[in-house]
Amino acid sequence: MRIAVIGAGQMGSGIAQVAAQSGHDVLLHDRGLEYIQRGIAGITKNLDRDVEKGRKTAEQRSAVLARIHPQIAIEKLDVGLAIEAASEHLQTKLALFATLDAQTPSEAILASNTSSISITKLAAATTRPERFIGMHFMNPVPVMALVEIIRGIATSQATYDFTESLAREMGKTPVEVRDFPGFVSNRVLMPMINEAIYALYEGVGSVESIDTVMKLGMNHPMGPLTLADFIGLDTCLAIMDVLHEGFGDSKYRPCPLLKQYVAAGWLGKKTGRGFYTYGK
Ligand code: NAD
Repeated sequence: MRIAVIGAGQMGSGIAQVAAQSGHDVLLHDRGLEYIQRGIAGITKNLDRDVEKGRKTAEQRSAVLARIHPQIAIEKLDVGLAIEAASEHLQTKLALFATLDAQTPSEAILASNTSSISITKLAAATTRPERFIGMHFMNPVPVMALVEIIRGIATSQATYDFTESLAREMGKTPVEVRDFPGFVSNRVLMPMINEAIYALYEGVGSVESIDTVMKLGMNHPMGPLTLADFIGLDTCLAIMDVLHEGFGDSKYRPCPLLKQYVAAGWLGKKTGRGFYTYGK
């Protein structure tokens, strides 16, 4: 099958990689060629590491890369599926899905990798809500086993079955969850991260002490502030905003410190600075 992946950031490039690894041709789109090239460079680096570690042969690496094609414009996409993984902004995603609806065959399935936005709302931007679904991969996509699958109110059983078997074919474990803000993963994870940022903001502990408490005390593989940097602080803030607005409950208010970091452009690992600083 040919699959369009929209957004070549950390998630889109990971999705493109696992789709190509499971034998599909991928059209990788972003808002500019430089973003697509950066995504492909990241995939190449991952695959090179796999070859070094003996997890793939050089031939397998080349075959995966040969299946990933840069797609400059969303025009006349002859695909069976499009997976959207652009930034976590409602208006961006609504506009992209209106375009995808017009530029893909009417029988193609449209999926969003959104972390928190209503699948029903995104589906309503298209004329095919029965062939619309949430396919929420975890970061880093090539490594993490889970895919949350979220039906919108009109998603058909055939669309669900297709998506579930595709996730399995990609080597993932699909779990079905309902269409509520943040689904299950970010409903549980993001308030914990936000609370860790409040603990920092209120001076309860330093960045290092908060992360160490959660790593050594709760056996988390990564502290919450490290994880926030890894997810992207802009994405964390966008998810908290969706939870806050969606539930209308003040317990989801994003920490002012998180807002300030995002305003400063300190978005975490992807910009080199968040709660920690990162080399090139
Ligand atoms: P990212 O910032 O790394 O990448 C987003 C990409 O979208 C960028 O390359 C950007 O240029 C592109 N983009 C923005 N507007 C666009 C447009 N109009 N057309 C085409 N491309 C556009 O972000 P990410 O971490 O890859 O997140 C992408 C999506 O995946 C978000 O919806 C996010 O909530 C979700 N998600 C993120 C994580 C995570 O841990 N980071 C996990 C699961 C899901």
